[in-house]
Amino acid sequence: MLELYDTLTRKKSALRPHEKGKFSVYTCGPTVYRDAHIGNLRSYLMADWIRRTLEILGHEVTHIKNITDVGHMRQEVLEQGDDKVIAAAIAEGKTPAQIAEFYTQRFLEDESTINILPANEFPKATEHVNEMIEIIGSLLQSALAYEVDGNIYYDINSFPTYGNLSGNIHESELQEAVRVEADPLKRDPRDFTLWKKAEGGRTLKWASPWGDGFPGWHIECSAMSMKYLGKHIDVHTGGVDNIFPHHEGEIAQSEGYTGFQVVNHWVHGQHLLADGVKMAKSAGNAFIIPDLVERGIDPLAFRYLCMTAKYRTRINFTFTSLKACETALNKLRRHYILFSKNSQNQTLNNETVKEWKKRLIGIVCEDLNMPGLVDGIWRLIESSDAADSDKAAILSSIDNLMGLGLDSTDDMYDLPEKIIGKSDERTELRASLDYERSDRLRTEMEELGYMVEDAKDYSTIRLKDSSEIREERWKTISSSSEIASKVFSESVVPVTVGVVVNGYPDDTQRCVSSLIKWTESDQTEIIVIDNGSTDLTGELLEEMTKDQENLHILHADHTLGDGSAKNILLKMAQGEIFVLLDPSVEIKGNFIKPIQGLLKDPEVGIAGLAGLKTEDLMHFHDGEGESGQVDAMQGYCFALRREDLKKVGLMRESFRYYRNLDLDYSFQFKEQGLSIIADHTLPMELHEHRGWTALSEGERDELSKKNYGRFLKKWRGRTDLLISNK
Ligand code: AMP
Ligand code: ZN
Repeated sequence: MLELYDTLTRKKSALRPHEKGKFSVYTCGPTVYRDAHIGNLRSYLMADWIRRTLEILGHEVTHIKNITDVGHMRQEVLEQGDDKVIAAAIAEGKTPAQIAEFYTQRFLEDESTINILPANEFPKATEHVNEMIEIIGSLLQSALAYEVDGNIYYDINSFPTYGNLSGNIHESELQEAVRVEADPLKRDPRDFTLWKKAEGGRTLKWASPWGDGFPGWHIECSAMSMKYLGKHIDVHTGGVDNIFPHHEGEIAQSEGYTGFQVVNHWVHGQHLLADGVKMAKSAGNAFIIPDLVERGIDPLAFRYLCMTAKYRTRINFTFTSLKACETALNKLRRHYILFSKNSQNQTLNNETVKEWKKRLIGIVCEDLNMPGLVDGIWRLIESSDAADSDKAAILSSIDNLMGLGLDSTDDMYDLPEKIIGKSDERTELRASLDYERSDRLRTEMEELGYMVEDAKDYSTIRLKDSSEIREERWKTISSSSEIASKVFSESVVPVTVGVVVNGYPDDTQRCVSSLIKWTESDQTEIIVIDNGSTDLTGELLEEMTKDQENLHILHADHTLGDGSAKNILLKMAQGEIFVLLDPSVEIKGNFIKPIQGLLKDPEVGIAGLAGLKTEDLMHFHDGEGESGQVDAMQGYCFALRREDLKKVGLMRESFRYYRNLDLDYSFQFKEQGLSIIADHTLPMELHEHRGWTALSEGERDELSKKNYGRFLKKWRGRTDLLISNK
C-alpha cells in the first residue's frame, strides 16, 4: 500500500480508502488569471504520481482538481487590473470569464505537455457559488459563522480544533494575516471571510440571502470537494503554502458543516525554488512551460527533474540541472528503444518482470520515493539478471507510474534510405582508411540532424535528440554559485569595471563603447554580464568583444537576481579597484583617475557619482549635486577597493530587484567604519534608467517595498552609522 506523510497527524501512514478499492483525491487547482508556473506544476506532478501509484496498485481513482476563477484576495488584484496581463485583457475589452477561460485552456495544455493525467473533473469556482452559499448558510445556522453588514465570517473560536493542521499558528503568520486583511468587522482578527459584500461598482458578484457579494477563497474547495467526492475524501493535496490559511479554513468549513472529519489524509508538496527563493510570479523568478519550449528544452525533462527529489524537499531550479535531466531522459529513451528492438526474438521471463516491478513499485510506496525509483530504473538498465526483453517490459509497465511517455518515443535508430546509403559508404571509406572523406560524410550526416558515434569497428547512427539539436549560442551560467570567488586573490590589473545589462542593445552599446573609449585596455578589465537578455544584446556584446581583449562577457541563462548578478562581478574582478556601472551611464572623460584619487584615502570605502543622505533611514535625498560625504552611494557608479571585500563581504542575494540594494551594500561598508564619498564632477552622463522606467508603477512599488523591508529589517535603529550623527 502507498504510505504517505500526513500533514495533520505528522506521521507517515498508509492511504486507506473509505470505500474498498476506490480512492477519491482532491487537488487544489490553479488560479486562472495568469499562467501556472513550473513551481505550481511541481505540485500537480506530485498529485499525478500519487494517482498513478494508486492506479498501478490496482485501485480506481477519482481525481478532482478545481479551477479558481473567483475568490479571495486575488479577486481584488483582478479588478484593479494590477496584473499586466489582466490590464491588457481588460484594455482589449475582455471579461474576467474570458480571461479565466484563456488561462484554463493554457493550463490544460501545460498539464498534457508534461503528461499529467487529466483529472476526472475540473470544477470551476464560479459555477459552484450556490453550493458555497448552502454551506455558509448552514455554518451560520450552527453559529460557527456570523454576519456583519452583509459579510460572513467564520468564528474560529467556536471550532476548537482550528489550527491543528498548521500547528500553532505562528505569531508572524497571524500578523501577516491581520496586516493583509485589517477588517474591523471581525470579532477576532483570525476569523476568515466566507462571504464578502459587493461594494458599489463591482461587476463580479452573486445574489445571496445576505445580499450581493462574492465568496471567500477557502469555501470553494469545501464546496467542490464534497460535491464531487462526497463527505469522505481519501486524499487531499496541495503545496505547503496551502496548509495555512487555505486548508486550515477548509477543514473548519467542511467539518463544521458535516460534523465529522472529511479529509482522511493531507499531503503537501514542498516548493520549487529559483535563485534560492520560492518560485512565484511576484518574485520575478517564475518560468512557464512555454519558456522551456522556447529554449528548445524538452518539457518532459522537467517531469524527470521533479522525480529526482522527494516531494517533501525543496528543489532549486536551474536550467543547468534541467538540461542534465534532459540528457538523462534521452539516454533512458535510447535504452528503452534498444531493449524493445532486441526483444523481438526473445521470450519474456515473467518471474523476472514481476519481481522487478514489485521491487520498483515498492520503492515508490514508501512516501512516494521517486528519486529511489529513478535510481532503481538505472540499476535495472545496467542489471545482468534481466534480459533486454524483460527490461523493455518492465520499463514500459513502470512508465505508467513515471509518466515519461517512453512508449511514444520515436525510434531514433530508424534511418531513411539516404542516411543508410551514406552510412554504408562511410563504413567502406573507414575500412580503406580514407578518413578525410569519411569525416566529410560524418559532417554531412550531422548537418542533416543525425548523430554518428564510432566504435572500434562499427558506427551507430541515430537521430539527434532535443539537446543535441539545440544550438547553444554560447556558454551560459545558471547561478552565482557557479562562479569561483577571486576576492582573496591578488589583483592583476589596476581597475575592473563591471556592468550588468538586461536587454536594450542601444544602451548597452552606448555604455560599453564609452567605457572602452575612456579606459586603457592594459590598465582595465571590463566584465559585462548579459543577464538573461532575450533580444540581440548578447550578440552585440559578442561582437564587441571580438577586437577588445580586455572585454569579458558572461551570459546568464535567465535573469539572475540583481544581487546575484553583481556578486558575480565582485567575485570575478581582479582589479585593485572595482567600479560598478549602470548601463544607463555614458562615460564622458577619464573617470578612473579621480576615482583612484578618492579611494587613496583608506578611510573611504566607496566612491561614486551620486550619493544619498538620510536622517532617519526613511527619507533619502540626493543632496542636489553636492559632493562630499554621504550615507549611501547610488548604483549608477559605485567604486570600491577590492581589498575591502575581505571584510565587507558580498551583496545580499535576496535582493532580486536593484532598488535599495545599493543602500544596503553601502551600509555594509559603513558598518566596517568606512565612509562614502560622492563626486558629482565625475565625467559621466546619466541617461534613462530602464530598470526603473520599464516597470509599471504597481510593479515598482511592490518590488521597492519588498527590498526596503529587507533593508530596514537589517539596519533599523542603526542611526549611529549616519553622517548626521558623526
Ligand atoms: P495558486 O495558483 O497560486 O493557487 O497555486 C497552485 C498550486 O501551486 C498550489 O497548490 C500551491 O501550493 C502550489 N505552488 C505555488 N508556488 C509553488 C512553488 N514555488 N513550488 C511548488 N508549488 C507551488
Ligand atoms: Zn483549495
